[in-house]
Amino acid sequence: MMRLWFAVWMARLAGFFSRLSGRGGSSLPGVVARKLDPQVLSKLVTRLPQGTILVTGTNGKTTTAALTAFLLRNQGYRLVHNRAGANLILGLTATVVQAEKWHLFPRADMALLETDEASMPRASQETHPRAIAVTNFFRDQLDRYGELSTTVDMVQRAILQMDNGGQLILNADDPQVAYVGQGYPHVVYFGLDLEKSIRLARFQDTLDARFCPRCGEPLNYRMRYYAHLGDYYCIGCGWQRPTPDWIVTGWNKEQNIIAVDHKEHRVRLPITMPGIYNVYNLVAAVALAAQLGVEPSTMGESLSHFEPAFGRMESVVMRGHQVWLALVKNPVGFTQVLEAVADDTNQQKWALVIINDRYADGTDVSWLWDVDFEALAPTLRLEQWWVSGIRAYDMAVRLKYAGIADERVHVVRDPSAALEQMINQSPSEVSVWVMPTYTALLEVRQHLTQHHFTRHFREG
Ligand SMILES: [Zn+2]
Repeated sequence: MMRLWFAVWMARLAGFFSRLSGRGGSSLPGVVARKLDPQVLSKLVTRLPQGTILVTGTNGKTTTAALTAFLLRNQGYRLVHNRAGANLILGLTATVVQAEKWHLFPRADMALLETDEASMPRASQETHPRAIAVTNFFRDQLDRYGELSTTVDMVQRAILQMDNGGQLILNADDPQVAYVGQGYPHVVYFGLDLEKSIRLARFQDTLDARFCPRCGEPLNYRMRYYAHLGDYYCIGCGWQRPTPDWIVTGWNKEQNIIAVDHKEHRVRLPITMPGIYNVYNLVAAVALAAQLGVEPSTMGESLSHFEPAFGRMESVVMRGHQVWLALVKNPVGFTQVLEAVADDTNQQKWALVIINDRYADGTDVSWLWDVDFEALAPTLRLEQWWVSGIRAYDMAVRLKYAGIADERVHVVRDPSAALEQMINQSPSEVSVWVMPTYTALLEVRQHLTQHHFTRHFREG
């Protein structure tokens, strides 16, 4: 106990000085705590009466975890929940260690931790999660974890380490995700059954998991909603999408409402974020929250007040303009954001794409060539493109090859200057889509905060 006490207090002190020196969001408290007591995370979370839940997957884990946290808090649960991005084992440790100011143990009901795939085996081993939710598996930037199978293996190892009786909440529409639930006794699946699949042909090039995870044959799709997500089946071995327990059966884009069926019941839920991937995030959160005891019929009222986490499709107003901010970090994520742009029914739309190549962005920008601008450009109805950031010229070249005329592409390397110029030159009815990589998002955020253009920004 002395060791734990010492580790926690030294870590909090490290966090305090780290914040004083202006380095917010540091993982230093996690480093210090684990150095002084390697079991610190485990010791702290095992005291939580309702245990730990881990949310993982390539895309959407931040939003899914934020939506779930929102639903749980509205139900009166007290949570330990990490900030977006603090999702490696050091970040999880820093979050739990700093959950309280003066008490040693977090006085919460449960920990809800967004967890990077690479940290899943260790997080599972140390926190003994009562539930693991998996959103999807895409190849992230190749310079991070390499191949898709590595990512799947890490999550599988985490599941094997879960105690008996642990619950899985899995995306039935992603073959690789669904397959990790095969043979596991406690699985809840979520998925979509919409009448129209969305622009089926456009995503040929971003298919990450088109082969049957059981026998290796190419998969066939009855419906495909985006990338490799949909209602699939294998001719080779007969494996097919598991029947979802929570299933989106309707999506009214005008009224921003989805219909979700579970057993004999149907709930209608408001969806405050555009794009089909947010439909997946929402149904994942609904399935997870229901599993943890939130009554589905109360969710609609809660969700109408939800505001997305910073950068995962944040809307701000800047000098009368509707400005959408959406992080882009890999080909599939970028494609999804462009799909949301296509869904924006505003008559006039301009885009600002900011590409940096610092470590946190991924140092290899060749992934821009995997975004299918050629197919998407005609659907976007974007009149003007501004490109910015350290690799602004790479982005400009990419747009040129996608057939976008030179006179519609403006290069301004400094992100703040680009944003200012763009806003100053655009008529107020133009809606503006800002699509930055991670460190570029931080720059834009700082600029907006300094100039008081925004309602508020969440930490993170
Ligand atoms: Zn098969």
